[in-house]
Formats: sequence, C-alpha cells, structure tokens
Amino acid sequence: MQGNPTFSVYVGPMFSSKTTKLLSALERFKYQRKRVAVFKPSLDDRYDPSEVVSHSGWTAPALTVKTGADILEALAQMPDEPDVVAVDEAFMIPNVAEVLTWLYRNGITVIASTLDISYAGKPFHEVEKMLAWATHIEKCAAVCTICGRDAFYTHKKLIDDDRGEIQVGGAELYEPRCFQHHLAVDKREKIHTE
Ligand code: ADP
Ligand code: MG
Repeated sequence: MQGNPTFSVYVGPMFSSKTTKLLSALERFKYQRKRVAVFKPSLDDRYDPSEVVSHSGWTAPALTVKTGADILEALAQMPDEPDVVAVDEAFMIPNVAEVLTWLYRNGITVIASTLDISYAGKPFHEVEKMLAWATHIEKCAAVCTICGRDAFYTHKKLIDDDRGEIQVGGAELYEPRCFQHHLAVDKREKIHTE
C-alpha cells in the first residue's frame, strides 16, 4: 500500500510497442526495489505461457489468468502484497477493469498495456472502463505497413467471421495501419446517435 499510487495504461494497435513500454516500466520498478506482480491472459498463447514477451523478444516472468477474479486470487496467495500490479494485453481479460481500479483505489500502482479498438473499429469495453480511472494514458503508434505513417489501427488480413472480435495472432494475421489505410475508418459511414 502506497500513499501515492499511479494507474498507467499503454493503448494502441498491434506492434505499437505497448508491451515494450510495459517491460521498460517494469525494469524501472525493479531498480526501485518494488515488489511487482505481472499477469497476462491465458488466451494469449502466442509466446511462452509464463512470460510477457514483446514482438522484439524482450521478456518478463508472468502469471496467466482467465479473468479479473483470477488476479485477485493469485494476489491473495502471495506472501507479500505487491507494490505494483502489471497486466499485458488487458483487453483479453473479462472484469479486468473493475479489479485493476479496485487495486489502484487500495493503494497499489497499476500498469497495463492493451489494444483499445478491435480490427473492426469497435472499442473494447474493459479498456473504456479502465481509462476512466487511469492517471497516465499513453496512446502508442506503430508504423503503417502501407505508407509508413503513424498507425493507430489494426488491420486483420483474413476476416474469419466465426472467430469474433478477439482472435489471437501475430504478423501473419494482423498489421498496423494509418487513418488512410484502415477500412474501419470510413468517414462516409452513417453516425448513430440514439
Ligand atoms: P505491441 O505490444 O504494441 O504489440 P511490442 O512491444 O510487442 O508491440 O512490439 C513492438 C515491436 O514490433 C517494435 O519494436 C518493432 O520491432 C516490431 N514491429 C514489427 N512491425 C512493426 C510496425 N509495422 N510498426 C512498428 N513496430 C513494428
Ligand atoms: Mg503486446
């Protein structure tokens, strides 16, 4: 429990260095001798299940969880309460926003990295909720694979409608795209206000 906790969130498309920034922040906490607990969704099976891994290969040990409740359960079993709770790919964990907000309000520093919008342009509700309580939000940009501009959106190369909004994959399935080259950014789409 600290007197001045922070709640930092790195958001952006795939390949925008969200995980790299999370790992870099974890490195600083290590030098500050903070006790850190790191979590990742069990749904994210792209790399090692016991590590957070960036696309460039940087890693940190992590526990895998299915839900926000799993985070609380894991923390309850730790001999010492951590100073910092970190979560990678937070959008894949149901109820994560409520749990991270609760931890922050109880004096624990929280740091999360997450996609904010699906490939179809739909905001992830867990992320919307968590941003309301965040003290620091960094919108990360990748490089558009078509033109090299800042990319804030994720393009899915093969649309398979059966797989829903969340389908875990890497460069074989997704690539970052800028405003101009992302199909979901359609200015002619009708606006719904009801
Ligand atoms: P994220 O967690 O946002 O998906 P990572 O931190 O895991 O991103 O990986 C970022 C790394 O991805 C970059 O440092 C770079 O090496 C690599 N990368 C591959 N394609 C791109 C791209 N189109 N734009 C930016 N980085 C890319
Ligand atoms: Mg990542």
